[in-house]
Amino acid sequence: MNASMSDNFEKGQTQSNPPEVSKPKKGAKVPRQPMPEQAPEDRRYNFDEVPFGYTPELAILEASRCIECKKPGCVEGCPVHIDIPGFIRLIREGRFIEAAQHIKLQNSLPAVCGRVCPQEEQCESKCILGVKGEPVAIGRLERFAADFERASGEVALPNIPPKTGKRIAVVGSGPAGLTVAGDLIRLGHDVTIFEALHEPGGVLMYGIPEFRLPKEIVRAEVEYLKRLGVEFVMNYVVGRNSTVRELVEEEGYHAVFIGTGAGLPSFMGIPGENLVGVYSANEYLTRSNLMKAFLFPKYDTPPIRRDKVAVIGGGNVAMDAARTALRLGGDVTIVYRRAREQMPARAEEIHHAEEEGVKFMLLTNPVRIIGDERHRVVGMECIRMELGEPDSSGRRRPVPVPNSEFIIEVDTVIIAIGNQPNPLIPQTMPELQTTKHGTIVVDPDTMQTSVPYVFAGGDIVSGAATVISAMGQAKIAAQSIHRYVMGLPLK
Ligand SMILES: Cc1cc2nc3c(=O)[nH]c(=O)nc-3n(C[C@H](O)[C@H](O)[C@H](O)COP(=O)(O)OP(=O)(O)OC[C@H]3O[C@@H](n4cnc5c(N)ncnc54)[C@H](O)[C@@H]3O)c2cc1C
Ligand code: SF4
Repeated sequence: MNASMSDNFEKGQTQSNPPEVSKPKKGAKVPRQPMPEQAPEDRRYNFDEVPFGYTPELAILEASRCIECKKPGCVEGCPVHIDIPGFIRLIREGRFIEAAQHIKLQNSLPAVCGRVCPQEEQCESKCILGVKGEPVAIGRLERFAADFERASGEVALPNIPPKTGKRIAVVGSGPAGLTVAGDLIRLGHDVTIFEALHEPGGVLMYGIPEFRLPKEIVRAEVEYLKRLGVEFVMNYVVGRNSTVRELVEEEGYHAVFIGTGAGLPSFMGIPGENLVGVYSANEYLTRSNLMKAFLFPKYDTPPIRRDKVAVIGGGNVAMDAARTALRLGGDVTIVYRRAREQMPARAEEIHHAEEEGVKFMLLTNPVRIIGDERHRVVGMECIRMELGEPDSSGRRRPVPVPNSEFIIEVDTVIIAIGNQPNPLIPQTMPELQTTKHGTIVVDPDTMQTSVPYVFAGGDIVSGAATVISAMGQAKIAAQSIHRYVMGLPLK
């Protein structure tokens, strides 16, 4: 736990020794409580988490705003249907650890989701208080309860039923794989996670930067699964070290879950993309997050510190790459082909990036990356765009303005225009049905694939999406795998 987070809780504060805080009544007429955070001028020079989180006092005050609706819209808006008024009531009553445990009935990664879920589009967008004012800060409260539980050291292990003797292989340790593993081990099965990288967590570990999601939180979730008995096999690429079929026919697994995500970066197909100094956002973020390039030479990852950085794209991945490049010392510009209103990134991420000093070059599209005689990036040719008719996504299509080309001076280009599913497993298992986009076809009610003993969920099924949608699919898959291996009907 970093200093700022632990400072929110008194040492030794636990369920049996709760902090002394006055408890306002339900439906208190108080404004939405802001979350204290690092000042932009400080945080652009460090990788520490930006918000500090609520103190117990702020959490109770914010929780008191909830009117505990009889038909709560917030629950409808949550992809995994957390009992939101229920956990908020527990926070209002100062029963913080019970609140965390209540959330965990539906969501096994609340400290993660409280930080990275797009609540403004989900639960908070449906909160009744948002109709005339500001919704309850559900995500901040979820994060508070989970952090309090972890800081207290009172993370209880559930009772696990007697072993069933069934063995499940989980491929990939992102939010989908971790969720499936957690649900299946609680049902008495033996679970092994096979992960290609050297640290578990998927995008939570290698993609989302430390200043948005401290890695100690992901490690704590992994440790919890290990304590429950989940086995982790790292540096193991299914499709190379062994195939899915071999896991079943030779290694004796009774079912396999595929949660391999969408980690294959898209490129623009413009000249100069193979120059030195051009990165996919995935590579750039992996070098920084997982391989700690920012601590060179303590870590022997080649440094990626450069001066003038262009990040291509307008989504969350582009914001993460831009804010990382800024912290590595760059002068960073986001180049995006549409207007600001069409940027797919969360409003909060755009706001944070801008506050920290990231510049935005909107309605601009790169046409060529320019290199010197040593094939190093020295510039990028762009063209101005204007908005035309709406395209299939409903957003107005960006159209090039004739003869508006211009060159910007850059030495690093980070491409963040999207990710595709990793094709390795479908390639090594031709009987697995896939879509033309490379995602695995499943029955959405069960997450079973065209191969009966193989189930799948997360970005490998939906394409690049969100943590909570990956977890929601994983929960369905876990129930189906349980029924499959126990010989019960799936539906
Ligand atoms: C930079 C970035 C920022 C994001 N920010 C947010 C956010 O703020 N909020 C949000 O909700 N979502 C965000 N997302 C999306 C979110 O992280 C994903 O939707 C989610 O992680 C998908 O989970 P998953 O388990 O399906 O896959 P992943 O998290 O991609 O995990 C897949 C795992 O499978 C492993 N793997 C792949 N192939 C193999 C193989 N053959 N053998 C063994 N292991 C394999 C990979 O190494 C990886 O660890 C972000 C994504 C990125 C890239
Ligand atoms: S909709 Fe808002 S006020 Fe109603 S229960 Fe949910 S969080 Fe509370």
